[in-house]
Amino acid sequence: MILMLLVLTASAKTKAPKYVFYFIGDGMGVNQVMATQYYLSDVEGKLGFKSLCFTDFPYSGLVITHSANTYVTDSSAAGTALASGQKTNNNVLGMLPDKETPCKSIAEMAHEKGYRVAIGTTVCVDHATPGVFYAHQPSRDNYHEIGIELSQSGFEFFAGADFHTPYTKDNSDEGNYIQAEKAGYTIVRGYDGYVEKAKSSDKILMLEKKPKSDHYLSFAIDRNDDEMTLSQITTAAIDFMMKDPKKGFFMMMEGGRIDNACHGNDAATTIKETLDFDEAIKIAYDFYLKHKKETLIIVTADHETGAMGLSNGAYRLNSKVLQYQDMSEGEFSAYLENKGREIGDILTWEEVEEELKKHYGFWDKIRLSSKQTDRLRTTYVETFGMGQGELKEEEYYKVDKMSDEATRIISEVAQISWGTGSHSGGYVPVFAIGVGAEQFTGQMDNTEIPMKIKKLAGY
Ligand SMILES: [Zn+2]
Repeated sequence: MILMLLVLTASAKTKAPKYVFYFIGDGMGVNQVMATQYYLSDVEGKLGFKSLCFTDFPYSGLVITHSANTYVTDSSAAGTALASGQKTNNNVLGMLPDKETPCKSIAEMAHEKGYRVAIGTTVCVDHATPGVFYAHQPSRDNYHEIGIELSQSGFEFFAGADFHTPYTKDNSDEGNYIQAEKAGYTIVRGYDGYVEKAKSSDKILMLEKKPKSDHYLSFAIDRNDDEMTLSQITTAAIDFMMKDPKKGFFMMMEGGRIDNACHGNDAATTIKETLDFDEAIKIAYDFYLKHKKETLIIVTADHETGAMGLSNGAYRLNSKVLQYQDMSEGEFSAYLENKGREIGDILTWEEVEEELKKHYGFWDKIRLSSKQTDRLRTTYVETFGMGQGELKEEEYYKVDKMSDEATRIISEVAQISWGTGSHSGGYVPVFAIGVGAEQFTGQMDNTEIPMKIKKLAGY
Protein backbone atom coordinates (compact mmCIF):
# COMPACT_ATOMS: atom_id res chain seq x y z
CA MET A 1 0.00 0.00 0.00
CA ILE A 2 2.68 2.44 1.09
CA LEU A 3 4.71 1.60 -1.98
CA MET A 4 1.70 2.16 -4.19
CA LEU A 5 1.00 5.49 -2.57
CA LEU A 6 4.62 6.49 -3.04
CA VAL A 7 4.47 5.56 -6.71
CA LEU A 8 1.20 7.45 -7.09
CA THR A 9 2.50 10.63 -5.46
CA ALA A 10 5.67 10.42 -7.51
CA SER A 11 3.75 10.11 -10.76
CA ALA A 12 1.33 12.85 -9.71
CA LYS A 13 4.32 15.10 -9.11
CA THR A 14 5.85 14.53 -12.52
CA LYS A 15 2.53 15.52 -14.06
CA ALA A 16 2.61 19.12 -12.85
CA PRO A 17 4.35 21.40 -15.35
CA LYS A 18 7.20 23.18 -13.64
CA TYR A 19 7.69 25.65 -16.49
CA VAL A 20 4.61 27.32 -17.95
CA PHE A 21 4.57 29.58 -21.00
CA TYR A 22 1.40 31.54 -21.75
CA PHE A 23 1.52 33.31 -25.11
CA ILE A 24 -1.27 35.75 -25.93
CA GLY A 25 -1.56 37.15 -29.45
CA ASP A 26 -3.61 40.28 -28.98
CA GLY A 27 -6.30 40.41 -31.67
CA MET A 28 -5.17 37.09 -33.16
CA GLY A 29 -8.37 35.37 -34.28
CA VAL A 30 -8.51 32.18 -36.32
CA ASN A 31 -8.32 34.09 -39.62
CA GLN A 32 -5.20 36.01 -38.63
CA VAL A 33 -3.52 32.63 -38.11
CA MET A 34 -4.98 31.12 -41.28
CA ALA A 35 -4.06 34.17 -43.41
CA THR A 36 -0.46 33.88 -42.22
CA GLN A 37 -0.26 30.18 -43.12
CA TYR A 38 -1.82 30.74 -46.56
CA TYR A 39 0.48 33.70 -47.17
CA LEU A 40 3.61 31.62 -46.53
CA SER A 41 2.51 29.13 -49.16
CA ASP A 42 1.17 31.71 -51.63
CA VAL A 43 4.47 33.61 -51.78
CA GLU A 44 6.09 30.33 -52.83
CA GLY A 45 3.54 30.03 -55.62
CA LYS A 46 1.86 26.95 -54.15
CA LEU A 47 -1.79 26.58 -53.30
CA GLY A 48 -1.77 25.31 -49.74
CA PHE A 49 -0.57 26.38 -46.34
CA LYS A 50 2.63 26.36 -44.31
CA SER A 51 2.40 25.66 -40.60
CA LEU A 52 3.69 28.02 -37.98
CA CYS A 53 5.56 26.62 -34.99
CA PHE A 54 2.50 26.89 -32.76
CA THR A 55 -0.04 25.63 -35.29
CA ASP A 56 1.88 22.36 -35.28
CA PHE A 57 1.31 21.91 -31.55
CA PRO A 58 -0.53 18.61 -31.01
CA TYR A 59 -3.57 20.02 -29.21
CA SER A 60 -5.87 22.86 -30.18
CA GLY A 61 -9.31 24.20 -29.50
CA LEU A 62 -11.67 27.11 -29.96
CA VAL A 63 -12.17 29.80 -27.36
CA ILE A 64 -15.26 31.89 -26.60
CA THR A 65 -14.36 35.45 -25.71
CA HIS A 66 -17.46 37.44 -24.68
CA SER A 67 -17.06 39.64 -21.61
CA ALA A 68 -19.46 40.05 -18.66
CA ASN A 69 -21.35 42.89 -20.34
CA THR A 70 -20.92 42.48 -24.11
CA TYR A 71 -20.40 39.91 -26.85
CA VAL A 72 -17.47 41.96 -28.12
CA THR A 73 -14.81 42.09 -25.47
CA ASP A 74 -11.92 44.50 -25.09
CA SER A 75 -8.43 43.52 -24.01
CA SER A 76 -8.85 44.23 -20.31
CA ALA A 77 -12.00 42.12 -19.86
CA ALA A 78 -10.59 39.35 -22.07
CA GLY A 79 -7.25 39.57 -20.30
CA THR A 80 -8.89 39.39 -16.89
CA ALA A 81 -10.66 36.21 -18.03
CA LEU A 82 -7.42 34.71 -19.37
CA ALA A 83 -5.45 35.70 -16.27
CA SER A 84 -7.88 34.92 -13.47
CA GLY A 85 -10.77 32.90 -14.85
CA GLN A 86 -13.28 35.65 -14.07
CA LYS A 87 -15.51 37.48 -16.52
CA THR A 88 -15.63 41.22 -16.06
CA ASN A 89 -16.96 44.25 -17.93
CA ASN A 90 -15.06 45.88 -20.76
CA ASN A 91 -12.49 48.42 -19.60
CA VAL A 92 -12.21 46.86 -16.10
CA LEU A 93 -8.77 45.44 -15.37
CA GLY A 94 -8.25 42.54 -12.97
CA MET A 95 -11.42 43.24 -11.01
CA LEU A 96 -15.00 41.98 -11.00
CA PRO A 97 -17.68 44.18 -12.65
CA ASP A 98 -18.25 45.81 -9.22
CA LYS A 99 -14.89 47.53 -9.84
CA GLU A 100 -13.88 46.72 -6.26
CA THR A 101 -13.22 43.03 -5.93
CA PRO A 102 -9.79 42.12 -7.25
CA CYS A 103 -9.41 38.94 -9.33
CA LYS A 104 -6.26 37.08 -8.44
CA SER A 105 -4.30 36.10 -11.53
CA ILE A 106 -2.53 32.78 -12.04
CA ALA A 107 0.72 34.76 -12.18
CA GLU A 108 0.07 36.00 -8.65
CA MET A 109 -0.89 32.51 -7.51
CA ALA A 110 2.23 31.03 -9.07
CA HIS A 111 4.39 33.67 -7.41
CA GLU A 112 2.84 32.98 -4.00
CA LYS A 113 3.67 29.31 -4.51
CA GLY A 114 7.32 30.22 -5.00
CA TYR A 115 7.53 30.12 -8.79
CA ARG A 116 9.47 32.80 -10.58
CA VAL A 117 7.29 34.99 -12.81
CA ALA A 118 7.98 36.90 -16.05
CA ILE A 119 5.64 39.21 -17.94
CA GLY A 120 6.63 40.49 -21.39
CA THR A 121 4.93 42.42 -24.17
CA THR A 122 5.52 44.35 -27.38
CA VAL A 123 3.39 47.23 -26.08
CA CYS A 124 3.88 49.20 -22.86
CA VAL A 125 4.35 47.20 -19.65
CA ASP A 126 1.28 48.80 -18.05
CA HIS A 127 -1.07 48.05 -20.98
CA ALA A 128 -4.23 45.94 -20.50
CA THR A 129 -2.94 42.46 -21.36
CA PRO A 130 0.23 42.51 -19.25
CA GLY A 131 -1.60 44.56 -16.59
CA VAL A 132 -4.27 41.96 -15.83
CA PHE A 133 -1.58 39.59 -14.57
CA TYR A 134 -0.37 41.88 -11.77
CA ALA A 135 -2.77 44.85 -11.35
CA HIS A 136 -6.35 45.46 -10.24
CA GLN A 137 -7.90 48.69 -11.43
CA PRO A 138 -11.47 49.83 -12.12
CA SER A 139 -10.22 51.17 -15.48
CA ARG A 140 -7.51 50.03 -17.88
CA ASP A 141 -6.79 53.71 -18.50
CA ASN A 142 -5.25 54.08 -15.02
CA TYR A 143 -1.82 53.49 -16.53
CA HIS A 144 0.10 55.22 -13.79
CA GLU A 145 -1.62 53.22 -11.03
CA ILE A 146 -1.05 50.02 -13.01
CA GLY A 147 2.63 51.03 -13.13
CA ILE A 148 2.67 51.39 -9.35
CA GLU A 149 1.21 47.90 -8.98
CA LEU A 150 3.92 46.58 -11.27
CA SER A 151 6.54 47.57 -8.71
CA GLN A 152 4.48 46.11 -5.86
CA SER A 153 3.99 42.75 -7.60
CA GLY A 154 7.42 41.42 -6.71
CA PHE A 155 7.50 39.46 -9.99
CA GLU A 156 11.06 38.79 -11.06
CA PHE A 157 10.93 40.03 -14.66
CA PHE A 158 9.01 42.56 -16.72
CA ALA A 159 9.66 43.68 -20.28
CA GLY A 160 7.98 45.96 -22.78
CA ALA A 161 8.43 49.23 -24.64
CA ASP A 162 8.18 51.51 -21.59
CA PHE A 163 5.72 52.84 -19.02
CA HIS A 164 2.76 54.55 -20.65
CA THR A 165 2.29 57.24 -17.99
CA PRO A 166 5.36 57.18 -15.73
CA TYR A 167 4.46 60.50 -14.08
CA THR A 168 1.22 62.03 -12.87
CA LYS A 169 0.25 65.47 -14.16
CA ASP A 170 0.91 67.15 -10.82
CA ASN A 171 3.94 64.99 -9.99
CA SER A 172 2.13 63.73 -6.90
CA ASP A 173 4.59 60.87 -6.56
CA GLU A 174 8.17 60.14 -7.58
CA GLY A 175 7.14 58.29 -10.75
CA ASN A 176 7.07 54.68 -11.92
CA TYR A 177 10.82 54.37 -12.62
CA ILE A 178 11.91 55.35 -9.12
CA GLN A 179 9.12 53.27 -7.60
CA ALA A 180 10.41 50.27 -9.53
CA GLU A 181 14.01 50.88 -8.47
CA LYS A 182 12.99 51.29 -4.84
CA ALA A 183 11.17 47.96 -5.10
CA GLY A 184 14.41 46.32 -6.18
CA TYR A 185 14.09 46.34 -9.96
CA THR A 186 17.10 46.98 -12.13
CA ILE A 187 15.91 48.94 -15.14
CA VAL A 188 17.75 47.88 -18.28
CA ARG A 189 17.38 49.27 -21.78
CA GLY A 190 17.35 46.87 -24.71
CA TYR A 191 18.62 43.29 -24.87
CA ASP A 192 22.26 44.43 -24.50
CA GLY A 193 21.29 46.23 -21.33
CA TYR A 194 19.78 43.02 -20.04
CA VAL A 195 22.88 40.96 -20.83
CA GLU A 196 25.06 43.49 -19.05
CA LYS A 197 23.05 43.66 -15.82
CA ALA A 198 21.25 40.30 -15.54
CA LYS A 199 23.85 38.57 -13.38
CA SER A 200 23.96 41.23 -10.71
CA SER A 201 20.19 41.85 -10.56
CA ASP A 202 17.45 40.22 -8.49
CA LYS A 203 14.61 41.68 -10.49
CA ILE A 204 14.60 43.07 -14.00
CA LEU A 205 12.53 45.69 -15.78
CA MET A 206 13.62 45.59 -19.41
CA LEU A 207 12.53 48.54 -21.55
CA GLU A 208 13.25 49.74 -25.08
CA LYS A 209 16.43 51.77 -25.59
CA LYS A 210 14.78 54.65 -27.34
CA PRO A 211 11.09 54.24 -26.63
CA LYS A 212 8.87 55.89 -29.21
CA SER A 213 6.21 58.36 -28.26
CA ASP A 214 3.46 55.79 -28.85
CA HIS A 215 4.87 53.54 -26.05
CA TYR A 216 5.03 50.47 -28.30
CA LEU A 217 7.83 48.47 -29.82
CA SER A 218 8.02 48.95 -33.57
CA PHE A 219 5.96 46.70 -35.79
CA ALA A 220 8.07 43.83 -37.11
CA ILE A 221 7.58 45.16 -40.67
CA ASP A 222 9.12 48.53 -39.68
CA ARG A 223 11.76 47.43 -37.23
CA ASN A 224 15.44 48.39 -37.37
CA ASP A 225 18.17 46.01 -36.23
CA ASP A 226 18.77 47.88 -32.99
CA GLU A 227 15.17 47.70 -31.79
CA MET A 228 13.93 45.27 -29.18
CA THR A 229 11.88 42.21 -30.20
CA LEU A 230 9.54 39.78 -28.46
CA SER A 231 12.06 37.04 -29.25
CA GLN A 232 14.74 38.92 -27.32
CA ILE A 233 12.30 39.47 -24.47
CA THR A 234 11.47 35.74 -24.41
CA THR A 235 15.15 34.80 -24.51
CA ALA A 236 15.97 37.18 -21.66
CA ALA A 237 12.97 36.02 -19.64
CA ILE A 238 13.93 32.34 -19.92
CA ASP A 239 17.52 33.16 -19.02
CA PHE A 240 16.43 35.16 -15.99
CA MET A 241 13.87 32.58 -14.84
CA MET A 242 16.53 29.86 -15.03
CA LYS A 243 18.81 31.71 -12.62
CA ASP A 244 17.02 29.55 -10.08
CA PRO A 245 15.85 26.52 -12.05
CA LYS A 246 14.75 24.65 -8.95
CA LYS A 247 11.86 27.04 -8.52
CA GLY A 248 10.13 26.68 -11.86
CA PHE A 249 8.41 29.56 -13.58
CA PHE A 250 5.28 31.03 -15.09
CA MET A 251 5.66 33.45 -17.95
CA MET A 252 3.19 35.43 -20.05
CA MET A 253 4.38 36.85 -23.35
CA GLU A 254 2.11 39.07 -25.39
CA GLY A 255 2.25 39.75 -29.13
CA GLY A 256 0.46 43.00 -28.48
CA ARG A 257 0.54 44.64 -31.86
CA ILE A 258 -1.28 42.10 -34.04
CA ASP A 259 -4.28 43.91 -32.62
CA ASN A 260 -2.95 47.35 -33.56
CA ALA A 261 -2.36 46.32 -37.18
CA CYS A 262 -5.87 44.84 -37.37
CA HIS A 263 -7.43 48.00 -35.94
CA GLY A 264 -5.90 49.76 -38.96
CA ASN A 265 -7.03 46.95 -41.31
CA ASP A 266 -3.40 46.62 -42.38
CA ALA A 267 -3.10 43.04 -43.65
CA ALA A 268 0.63 42.92 -44.46
CA THR A 269 1.54 44.33 -41.05
CA THR A 270 -0.84 41.86 -39.37
CA ILE A 271 0.79 38.87 -41.06
CA LYS A 272 4.35 40.05 -40.31
CA GLU A 273 3.36 40.64 -36.70
CA THR A 274 1.88 37.13 -36.42
CA LEU A 275 5.08 35.67 -37.88
CA ASP A 276 7.10 37.67 -35.36
CA PHE A 277 4.94 36.32 -32.54
CA ASP A 278 5.66 32.81 -33.83
CA GLU A 279 9.41 33.55 -33.73
CA ALA A 280 9.15 34.18 -29.99
CA ILE A 281 7.15 30.98 -29.54
CA LYS A 282 9.92 29.04 -31.31
CA ILE A 283 12.26 30.06 -28.50
CA ALA A 284 9.86 28.63 -25.92
CA TYR A 285 9.50 25.53 -28.09
CA ASP A 286 13.30 25.04 -28.06
CA PHE A 287 13.15 25.23 -24.27
CA TYR A 288 10.33 22.68 -24.28
CA LEU A 289 12.46 20.28 -26.34
CA LYS A 290 15.06 20.33 -23.57
CA HIS A 291 12.52 20.04 -20.73
CA LYS A 292 9.73 18.02 -22.29
CA LYS A 293 8.49 16.40 -19.11
CA GLU A 294 8.26 19.64 -17.18
CA THR A 295 7.05 22.24 -19.66
CA LEU A 296 3.64 23.41 -20.84
CA ILE A 297 3.18 25.98 -23.63
CA ILE A 298 -0.21 27.56 -24.27
CA VAL A 299 -0.76 29.90 -27.21
CA THR A 300 -4.03 31.78 -27.50
CA ALA A 301 -5.56 35.22 -28.07
CA ASP A 302 -7.76 37.59 -26.13
CA HIS A 303 -10.17 38.41 -29.00
CA GLU A 304 -10.30 38.87 -32.74
CA THR A 305 -9.69 42.35 -34.20
CA GLY A 306 -10.94 43.72 -37.53
CA ALA A 307 -13.39 40.93 -38.41
CA MET A 308 -10.75 39.87 -40.90
CA GLY A 309 -12.18 37.85 -43.76
CA LEU A 310 -10.35 35.59 -46.16
CA SER A 311 -12.23 36.57 -49.30
CA ASN A 312 -14.04 39.53 -50.70
CA GLY A 313 -16.46 37.58 -52.76
CA ALA A 314 -14.54 36.29 -55.75
CA TYR A 315 -13.70 32.77 -54.51
CA ARG A 316 -10.09 33.81 -54.55
CA LEU A 317 -7.41 34.84 -52.13
CA ASN A 318 -4.29 36.57 -53.38
CA SER A 319 -2.34 37.25 -50.20
CA LYS A 320 1.07 36.98 -51.90
CA VAL A 321 0.79 40.61 -53.06
CA LEU A 322 1.17 41.65 -49.43
CA GLN A 323 4.88 40.77 -49.65
CA TYR A 324 5.43 44.00 -51.62
CA GLN A 325 4.25 46.27 -48.81
CA ASP A 326 7.37 47.00 -46.77
CA MET A 327 6.06 49.48 -44.18
CA SER A 328 3.06 49.65 -41.90
CA GLU A 329 0.48 52.22 -43.01
CA GLY A 330 1.32 54.47 -40.04
CA GLU A 331 5.01 54.36 -40.91
CA PHE A 332 4.27 55.08 -44.59
CA SER A 333 2.19 58.08 -43.55
CA ALA A 334 5.01 59.41 -41.36
CA TYR A 335 7.46 58.69 -44.18
CA LEU A 336 5.45 60.79 -46.65
CA GLU A 337 5.18 63.58 -44.11
CA ASN A 338 8.94 63.50 -43.63
CA LYS A 339 9.58 63.49 -47.38
CA GLY A 340 7.45 66.60 -47.74
CA ARG A 341 9.33 68.30 -44.93
CA GLU A 342 12.67 67.36 -46.50
CA ILE A 343 11.88 68.91 -49.85
CA GLY A 344 10.07 71.77 -48.13
CA ASP A 345 7.10 71.47 -50.47
CA ILE A 346 3.89 69.56 -51.07
CA LEU A 347 4.64 66.22 -52.66
CA THR A 348 3.52 65.96 -56.29
CA TRP A 349 1.35 63.08 -57.50
CA GLU A 350 4.34 61.72 -59.42
CA GLU A 351 6.41 61.68 -56.25
CA VAL A 352 3.67 59.94 -54.27
CA GLU A 353 3.15 57.49 -57.13
CA GLU A 354 6.83 56.64 -57.00
CA GLU A 355 6.64 55.96 -53.25
CA LEU A 356 3.56 53.78 -53.69
CA LYS A 357 5.47 51.82 -56.31
CA LYS A 358 8.42 51.36 -53.98
CA HIS A 359 6.60 50.60 -50.72
CA TYR A 360 3.35 48.97 -51.85
CA GLY A 361 4.46 47.51 -55.17
CA PHE A 362 1.59 49.20 -57.00
CA TRP A 363 1.69 49.22 -60.83
CA ASP A 364 5.20 47.76 -60.73
CA LYS A 365 4.51 44.38 -59.13
CA ILE A 366 0.79 44.62 -58.43
CA ARG A 367 -1.68 45.38 -61.20
CA LEU A 368 -4.35 47.85 -60.13
CA SER A 369 -7.65 48.43 -61.90
CA SER A 370 -8.11 51.88 -63.41
CA LYS A 371 -10.76 52.49 -60.76
CA GLN A 372 -8.26 51.77 -57.99
CA THR A 373 -5.69 54.08 -59.61
CA ASP A 374 -8.36 56.78 -59.87
CA ARG A 375 -9.19 56.36 -56.21
CA LEU A 376 -5.54 56.83 -55.29
CA ARG A 377 -5.33 59.97 -57.45
CA THR A 378 -8.51 61.40 -55.92
CA THR A 379 -7.23 60.61 -52.45
CA TYR A 380 -3.96 62.28 -53.37
CA VAL A 381 -5.82 65.51 -54.14
CA GLU A 382 -7.85 65.25 -50.95
CA THR A 383 -4.77 64.54 -48.88
CA PHE A 384 -2.13 66.74 -50.44
CA GLY A 385 -4.30 69.46 -51.95
CA MET A 386 -3.35 71.63 -49.01
CA GLY A 387 -0.27 69.90 -47.67
CA GLN A 388 -0.74 66.48 -46.15
CA GLY A 389 -3.91 67.61 -44.37
CA GLU A 390 -5.62 66.17 -41.35
CA LEU A 391 -4.39 62.82 -40.14
CA LYS A 392 -6.94 60.12 -39.50
CA GLU A 393 -6.86 58.95 -35.91
CA GLU A 394 -6.54 55.15 -35.99
CA GLU A 395 -6.91 53.46 -32.64
CA TYR A 396 -3.16 53.10 -32.11
CA TYR A 397 -1.49 55.47 -34.55
CA LYS A 398 -2.16 58.29 -36.95
CA VAL A 399 -2.38 57.83 -40.67
CA ASP A 400 -3.05 60.17 -43.58
CA LYS A 401 -5.88 59.46 -46.03
CA MET A 402 -3.40 58.52 -48.75
CA SER A 403 -1.74 55.74 -46.76
CA ASP A 404 -5.12 54.60 -45.47
CA GLU A 405 -6.50 54.27 -49.01
CA ALA A 406 -3.36 52.53 -50.29
CA THR A 407 -3.66 50.00 -47.46
CA ARG A 408 -7.36 49.47 -48.19
CA ILE A 409 -6.53 48.85 -51.85
CA ILE A 410 -3.76 46.33 -51.17
CA SER A 411 -6.20 44.38 -48.96
CA GLU A 412 -8.71 44.43 -51.83
CA VAL A 413 -6.13 43.10 -54.27
CA ALA A 414 -5.14 40.44 -51.73
CA GLN A 415 -8.90 39.68 -51.48
CA ILE A 416 -8.79 40.15 -47.73
CA SER A 417 -11.85 41.85 -46.30
CA TRP A 418 -12.33 43.70 -43.04
CA GLY A 419 -15.64 43.99 -41.23
CA THR A 420 -14.66 46.58 -38.64
CA GLY A 421 -11.89 48.83 -37.34
CA SER A 422 -12.40 47.46 -33.85
CA HIS A 423 -12.85 44.05 -32.25
CA SER A 424 -15.21 41.23 -33.18
CA GLY A 425 -16.87 38.45 -31.20
CA GLY A 426 -15.37 35.61 -33.27
CA TYR A 427 -13.65 32.52 -31.97
CA VAL A 428 -9.99 32.68 -31.10
CA PRO A 429 -7.79 29.60 -31.23
CA VAL A 430 -5.85 27.90 -28.45
CA PHE A 431 -2.85 25.68 -29.15
CA ALA A 432 -0.98 23.63 -26.56
CA ILE A 433 2.02 21.36 -26.20
CA GLY A 434 3.67 19.71 -23.22
CA VAL A 435 2.56 18.48 -19.82
CA GLY A 436 -1.25 18.61 -19.61
CA ALA A 437 -1.64 20.02 -23.13
CA GLU A 438 -4.30 17.43 -23.94
CA GLN A 439 -6.72 19.38 -21.74
CA PHE A 440 -6.83 22.28 -24.18
CA THR A 441 -9.07 20.78 -26.83
CA GLY A 442 -12.62 21.36 -27.99
CA GLN A 443 -14.65 24.46 -27.40
CA MET A 444 -13.93 26.28 -24.16
CA ASP A 445 -14.69 29.58 -22.52
CA ASN A 446 -11.70 31.90 -22.07
CA THR A 447 -12.14 31.65 -18.28
CA GLU A 448 -11.44 27.91 -18.43
CA ILE A 449 -7.87 28.34 -19.72
CA PRO A 450 -6.31 29.79 -16.54
CA MET A 451 -8.37 27.41 -14.41
CA LYS A 452 -6.89 24.46 -16.29
CA ILE A 453 -3.37 25.89 -15.97
CA LYS A 454 -3.88 26.51 -12.26
CA LYS A 455 -5.08 22.98 -11.66
CA LEU A 456 -2.34 21.38 -13.74
CA ALA A 457 0.50 23.39 -12.23
CA GLY A 458 -0.92 23.34 -8.71
CA TYR A 459 -0.91 27.11 -8.24
ZN1 LIG B 1 -6.73 42.85 -27.13
